[in-house]
Amino acid sequence: MKDLAELVRPNIWSLAPYSCARNEFQGVARVLLDANENPYNSPLNRYPDPLQRHLKSLIAPVKGVDVDNIFLGGGGSDEAIDLCYRVFCVPRVDNVVAIEPTYGMYRVAADTNDVGYRPVNLSEDYALDADKLLAAVDEHTKLIFLCSPNNPTGNALDDAEVQKVLRGFDGIVVVDEAYSDFSEKPLFRTRLSQFPNIIVLNTFSKAWGCAGIRLGMAFASKEIIDVFNKVKYPYNVNTLTAEKGEEMIGRRYEVSKWVSMILAERVSLMDAVAQLPYCKKVYPTDANFFLARFTDATKLYSYLVTEGIVVRNRSNVTLCDSCLRITVGSRNENSLLLAAMRKYRG
Ligand SMILES: *Cc1c(COP(=O)(O)O)cnc(C)c1O
Repeated sequence: MKDLAELVRPNIWSLAPYSCARNEFQGVARVLLDANENPYNSPLNRYPDPLQRHLKSLIAPVKGVDVDNIFLGGGGSDEAIDLCYRVFCVPRVDNVVAIEPTYGMYRVAADTNDVGYRPVNLSEDYALDADKLLAAVDEHTKLIFLCSPNNPTGNALDDAEVQKVLRGFDGIVVVDEAYSDFSEKPLFRTRLSQFPNIIVLNTFSKAWGCAGIRLGMAFASKEIIDVFNKVKYPYNVNTLTAEKGEEMIGRRYEVSKWVSMILAERVSLMDAVAQLPYCKKVYPTDANFFLARFTDATKLYSYLVTEGIVVRNRSNVTLCDSCLRITVGSRNENSLLLAAMRKYRG
């Protein structure tokens, strides 16, 4: 890995961050008259902790990472993805390399930041070829985006190939583990110390059932997290989101039960979909969704919409020709989907 000073944009490396009242004062106060807050309407009258120390102290043991290795974003993973660009990529000069197909936000964030985006196709069965990916890297490549388990394909990437990317690239490798709670495969989150150039993304939106609170996580070396903290908006996780996140950590056994129920449903739903006469292939998955190929996915998609059922049409995505991405729902939701699909005659 190159020195962080070489990878981070020069203006960011030398940035003097905004210093807010709650950053400067750390002790126990009797009276808070430093931030022009309103004395009424407690507790929402107060600015939240800019570094979310309490929430991070609860997340750290659950995720098996140190507090200093955690960044939290109140805009979901999208915030961390955007920060990766803003921290590392000089617009119109630098570029990023990513697997294709994958999560659409990596490209959108590249476009909004005016940074080159270089997609490299996975194999026909959605496997990662590290050498092929690394061949797309040039001297202006700052980031590589990997997603494992990958969206929309569902599969976890081969651990040895991901390691090869991490060791073979001197910039930053982002490994998005948004769906890792549904997977048995080894995690990169718990191996941060082995890979100084890794940023692992997690989210409260999927297994934790909290897409509505927009709480995203990034795990990386303390040096990288410190740069993220310098660039983020000062109060980037609001009080309501932080409180709900704290509550959810206390409900983590319930979350495990949800994951188990979804995994059990996943087996039966995938089996049933594979039996449909117009289903050509169901792809193996490590996530709470799966990709399936049909004789005419767009027609099937439109039919399901008329039945009030919405799945994701991925027909126009690279390597996903005539595929739908189906989220595993509750037993009842899955039954309604299957009943509608069994009625369908193509
Ligand atoms: C759903 C998803 C996320 C979560 O995004 P949030 O902004 O945290 O809701 C992140 N990465 C991938 C690949 C996803 O599919």
